[in-house]
Amino acid sequence: MTSAGRFAPSPSGELHVGNLRTAVLAWLFAKSTARTFLLRVEDLDRARSGAEAEQLRDLQAVGVGWDAAVVRQTERTTLYDDAIARLTAEGRTYECFCTRREIQEAPSAPHAPQGAYPGTCRRLSHAEREIRRASRPASIRLRSDVAEWAVEDQLNGKFVGMVDDFVLRRNDGVTAYNLAVVVDDADQGIDQVVRGDDLLPSTPRQAYLATLLGLQVPEYAHVPLVVNHDGVRLAKRDGAVTLGDLAAVGIPAERVRDLILDSLGLPAGPLQGALPFFDPTRLPREPWVWKTPAA
Ligand code: GLU
Repeated sequence: MTSAGRFAPSPSGELHVGNLRTAVLAWLFAKSTARTFLLRVEDLDRARSGAEAEQLRDLQAVGVGWDAAVVRQTERTTLYDDAIARLTAEGRTYECFCTRREIQEAPSAPHAPQGAYPGTCRRLSHAEREIRRASRPASIRLRSDVAEWAVEDQLNGKFVGMVDDFVLRRNDGVTAYNLAVVVDDADQGIDQVVRGDDLLPSTPRQAYLATLLGLQVPEYAHVPLVVNHDGVRLAKRDGAVTLGDLAAVGIPAERVRDLILDSLGLPAGPLQGALPFFDPTRLPREPWVWKTPAA
């Protein structure tokens, strides 16, 4: 089995400098540890997909290349269905009929952490479940037997986070992110996950799920996000933040790449040249405040 790192964007829109910086970091982490680097398009939410071509183009423009064919989640549903079937055969799933509103309004279980699924459908009797089945499509939830789980993160140290009965398959039939990501990383031989630290809170759920499925838990490194001048996570509305916007104001992709490298304390130029200088222990731990430079 290969040892690999990856970048796994959701193709919901053009990548901005924050996403590109995370991709550069994932590439540097993988290449500096002699790993293969893979690209996976997380397009399960078809309604919000469509920017794949632009994303791949922009990654290449800042020097992030990948070593094997691009993998798309929509082409891998059998793998996800098999994993859910295995968990179901072990009695580790249940159907949930709750709407978002019902979940918000349900009294939370005693000692349950904030935001945890309150467990309403876990406790349904057979008859109650039959009644609900007739009126609504069900989502599939994991029957978790822990409340929290610890992961080790290369940049953040030990992180203990909530594990609730999270969704594995949505009620519209779409596989949930937490299930797909775990199945894909293991199937693709990915043993190093580098991504934005907004995903750190989901990581205990994923590591727990991997453990239940008998899969290897990857190494994790959650990197600081890029923020705007108000300290808020960078978004499209923050002005010139995509390669397209930046090119339009006279800033070419190579310059964006160099700004990203500079923000990481690395020399300008092709990524390969920055590799010998890359040291994860010396990475800035604060978010990078993006300011559109003068052309
Ligand atoms: N597709 C997710 C996103 O774009 C990232 C998933 C991951 O890196 O695990 O936010």
